[in-house]
Amino acid sequence: MSAGYRQLLDATIQHLEGLKSRGVRHVAVAPETLRALAQPPARTPVRPAAPVATPQPRAATPPPVPAAAAESTLSMPPKKSIAPAKVAADIVLPHPAAARLPASEKAAAFAALRERVLTCVKCPNLASSRTTVVFGVGNIDTELMFVGEAPGADEDEQGEPFVGRAGQLLTRIIQATGLERSDVYIANILKCRPDTPGQSAGNRKPTPEEMATCIPYLHEQIDLIQPKAIVALGATAVEGLLGKTLGITKLRGNWQTYRGIPLMPTYHPAYLLRNQAMSEKRKVWEDMLLVMEKLAMPISTKQRNFFLKAA
Ligand code: URA
Repeated sequence: MSAGYRQLLDATIQHLEGLKSRGVRHVAVAPETLRALAQPPARTPVRPAAPVATPQPRAATPPPVPAAAAESTLSMPPKKSIAPAKVAADIVLPHPAAARLPASEKAAAFAALRERVLTCVKCPNLASSRTTVVFGVGNIDTELMFVGEAPGADEDEQGEPFVGRAGQLLTRIIQATGLERSDVYIANILKCRPDTPGQSAGNRKPTPEEMATCIPYLHEQIDLIQPKAIVALGATAVEGLLGKTLGITKLRGNWQTYRGIPLMPTYHPAYLLRNQAMSEKRKVWEDMLLVMEKLAMPISTKQRNFFLKAA
């Protein structure tokens, strides 16, 4: 990639990041620009050493850039480059370090995102089988976010994540930290209940395609909320957010990082309902103590000693 192209690319990225930090969630890009951005960058011919005695070969025409980016100054410090095709695909660049939006802009951006998600039909099978889209619930100014897998039957019915049996257990875990559900934000990797054609009951894990289709919504929720810690509930949440398939047993209790945000993998509450062993509950509680420490939350002796006698 030529230095000039890289500078233009950096200018474009910086411009988009600036827009995003001001709450802009979409930019209009001409179809031909997107097509050009998706092409590999044209090679700049190597110039012969000066003095130039022969006519210069014409430099290949650089791909068009959004006009606003072309106006930006090009004398910026070098940044990590992002492949042009990636820029075209993720034209609304998620950036966890984006400046926090003023409260009203953040609420408006969240409401606009919610509207988009509630009318999403990207997975036709899920759009036709769902009762409601389960967007997420809680405090958008929170420091702590919980991410689960996908809505179950109760959530699909009520339009709120974690309201069934597993959800009631999650609520008790949250309350054991001294917080209420309304203090944190709760969302899922998938916003629609995975369909189970031909079955009258039961759940299924989201497919990789469904996860890939839906995950940008969660990225946007996290970008807007900018929590100080995320608790990933179960293997699917970890896989969706981090792309890691190592297994929740190996990952739980060990801090991970999601785009600069500390992420604690722990068991899904549904697992605790299936496996009633006190030792497993205790592990989840130990993970929550680590989260509380990370957020500098007060921890009482009673909270420290929960499950102390468990095996
Ligand atoms: N399980 C999840 O992962 N999410 C819900 O919302 C409910 C159950």
